[in-house]
Amino acid sequence: MKKTIKNYCFNATQSKLNELYEIALRYTSVKNEVFQRYGSISGLNYLSYPRQIRNEWVKTNYANKFGLQARYWKQAVDEVFSNIKSNWSNGFRKIKNNIYKNKNYTEVEKHYAFYLLKASILLYKAITFQSFDLPEIFKDKDIRRDKIHKYLKSRSRKYLRTKSYQNKNRSFQIDRNMYDIHKDNKGRTWIGIMGLTPRKRVRLQMTSSTESTGNLRIVLKGKHIEIHQAEDIQVNPIEGKDKRAIDKGFSEVITSSSGRKYGEQFNQLLKKESDRLSEKNKKRNKIRALTDKYEKKGDIVKSEIIKKNNLGKRKYFYQKEINLNEIKQFINLSLNRFITEERPAVMVTEDLRFTNWNKKLSKNVKRYFSSWLKGYLQERIDYKVMLNGVQQVVVNSAYGSQICHLCGRFGVRNGDKFYCEVHGVLDADHNAALNYLTRMSDPDITVYTPYRKVKDILQERLRLSNQDSRYSVIKTGQSESERTDYV
Ligand SMILES: [Zn+2]
Repeated sequence: MKKTIKNYCFNATQSKLNELYEIALRYTSVKNEVFQRYGSISGLNYLSYPRQIRNEWVKTNYANKFGLQARYWKQAVDEVFSNIKSNWSNGFRKIKNNIYKNKNYTEVEKHYAFYLLKASILLYKAITFQSFDLPEIFKDKDIRRDKIHKYLKSRSRKYLRTKSYQNKNRSFQIDRNMYDIHKDNKGRTWIGIMGLTPRKRVRLQMTSSTESTGNLRIVLKGKHIEIHQAEDIQVNPIEGKDKRAIDKGFSEVITSSSGRKYGEQFNQLLKKESDRLSEKNKKRNKIRALTDKYEKKGDIVKSEIIKKNNLGKRKYFYQKEINLNEIKQFINLSLNRFITEERPAVMVTEDLRFTNWNKKLSKNVKRYFSSWLKGYLQERIDYKVMLNGVQQVVVNSAYGSQICHLCGRFGVRNGDKFYCEVHGVLDADHNAALNYLTRMSDPDITVYTPYRKVKDILQERLRLSNQDSRYSVIKTGQSESERTDYV
């Protein structure tokens, strides 16, 4: 796991800036070229040995047209190919999930599909409908190959990234041979970056000294130059004992299966910012309508004045970023508190990508934050568990917030309350977290069990437990006062 350390340069002359911008531009065009040629299905042929592309380009002088020193375009090719690789492996994982859950295929057919997903060159032949010899283990087996090949083709297309790299991302990567760092006699740190002309480096003064040994990314932002370095993170295991499940709280960041809540008032924080954004955007739309009106009338000057005074992007995005950082900090603090206070050995979560939080978020919050929040929370959880040596288990969350953790009955969730006809009012998030905790060791419900099937299983269990007198204690045993313990 890596984190990014930022360093800054200052006092760059205009000509140095120009040269760096030119490198970034050409570098991006190499990336786009590679991406267009190999980012799609044809790239499968190169997955196992990407260096082939470099070799071909050197042999045919193809890369000359980019006007970059060889190290630069090679770096760009490598960068894109590692993206392409991770696109494919993400895609493969999703396709595997799809196939696993798909009832239309036999076990042998699934096995065959998984086999192809591991052999990229065969997969290429399969989804471009070329003939190839069936691997030995699948001979004499009844497999509808055409059907599987077509399916794999359509899924591959769906999960491949199609957007090209944009030129507004003005950055490029350099390896250790493409820069040098030294201190001058006044103690200032300088970095020399390989330029467009051989043996002539672009020298820049850095704000702080650094001991860079690996790849750097040069990021250009207007007149500012940032130098990003990925650094390995030290893992510090907390050596926890307990198993804990968490649920996104109704108004908190998370609720633990211990019953404790972290990051109270989180929804208010989100709501404040989403309302602000909504209000701001309303105003901006009104102003835009006004400037459009002036432009239609031919009064460009007036339109420009209004735009300049009211539609400044910098301040708008600056404020947005500041507020977003506040939200991020809040999430991180809450997760840190959870880990330091409960010290879990195992942390159970639902698969946040497939989670529906419609009932937990208000309209504006949903509009501005729903998908961002899932992504960010997932990423932070992954990061924190890694950092603290906690084992993470992802469980199937289907109906986890709709059944009572005590008796398995379907209940009604309303806001932060859950109603069970036997056990009365429970805290909804705590109840869900406890259900996720049991899911971890559920013999029948795995992450791959389809939603509908989960419901069938739960209903069947309920039917069996109604027949079984052992459960009658739970059914009738608790008094009103005991119930409130769970609220
Ligand atoms: Zn119950």
